[in-house]
Amino acid sequence: MRGITAFSAVAALWLASASTGMAAPSLTVLCGVDETWCAAMKTAYEAKTGLEISVTRKSTGDILNQIRAEKAAPTVDVWWGGTGDTHLQAGSENLLEPYQPAHERDMLPWAQNFFAMSGGRSAGIYAGALGFAYNGDLLRELKLPAPTCWKDLTDIAYRGRIQSGNPNSSGTAFTTLATLVQLFGEDEAFRYLAALNRNIERYTPSGAAPVKAAARGETLIGISFMHDAVTQKQVGFPLVIVAPCEGTGYEIGAVSIVKGARNIEEAKRFVDFALSPEGQGTGAAAGQNQVPSNAKSSLPLAAPDISMIKMVDYDFATFGSPDERSRLLRRFDAEIAATN
Ligand code: PLP
Repeated sequence: MRGITAFSAVAALWLASASTGMAAPSLTVLCGVDETWCAAMKTAYEAKTGLEISVTRKSTGDILNQIRAEKAAPTVDVWWGGTGDTHLQAGSENLLEPYQPAHERDMLPWAQNFFAMSGGRSAGIYAGALGFAYNGDLLRELKLPAPTCWKDLTDIAYRGRIQSGNPNSSGTAFTTLATLVQLFGEDEAFRYLAALNRNIERYTPSGAAPVKAAARGETLIGISFMHDAVTQKQVGFPLVIVAPCEGTGYEIGAVSIVKGARNIEEAKRFVDFALSPEGQGTGAAAGQNQVPSNAKSSLPLAAPDISMIKMVDYDFATFGSPDERSRLLRRFDAEIAATN
């Protein structure tokens, strides 16, 4: 019986690959970081192993939804990148496989805490602070004041000139929502979001889109991770990056193995690579500016110095819990998005 089941599984895989004319990938990864880094990581891992892997970029909330929907028959092996509180939610929903990575002892303290908090199901790969950035050329042209605080963004002067992500799909935007709740208290944060909403031109599905739009002058201000804005500035766009005066939140980007992964041994090797100085170095090489979690990795030269930024003591356990995340998203949809 076991033999027949195994034979059927092999035959199904062979038929699937024969019908598309392609071999099944040795590993399937959903990638939550910038497309450029997703592509660079695929190239680096394939060069190192000689394997062919599949890497697809999706926003963090969309990855969680896919993994949840495929729970009975996962097609994804590894979830690499994207905000850690959403990985914690997946762990709480029993969607992830615990794994002790080879490099865990080299992790910086914040990454070791995150790994412990996840129950050994998700490892921190980078950290980065939230903020916003505006197009300096456009601001001068429009003769508008320069915003320096979260509260400045509700000024009528910026009506229809701000983009932010949609927290249902974007991990960046969920970090924004959770940060404002931690900074101001929940009811005050929702009053703030309602005022900000009057200035929001649109909520984008992906979290990096707002600063990319501000970089190109398609909007004036984008709310995003500061490291995403640094990457745009480095390639020459006239962005001014702001660490808001009231303080801000931050993310720990994570990597996790999906429970029931078909390629579990390769998934473990990929996680080890993602935590190694070599794997983490693919980020800086692809123009990314997060702070890597391995103490032996080099810090990208232009990475924002997170020790200099006024930061909330971000409560990952609360904001990574399924009940709290779902409740805040329902409130955002009902009170804010519905009126945009
Ligand atoms: N881009 C970068 C550089 C990030 O660090 C992260 C979060 O980990 C994201 C994008 C998240 O993307 P999204 O907000 O679309 O989920």
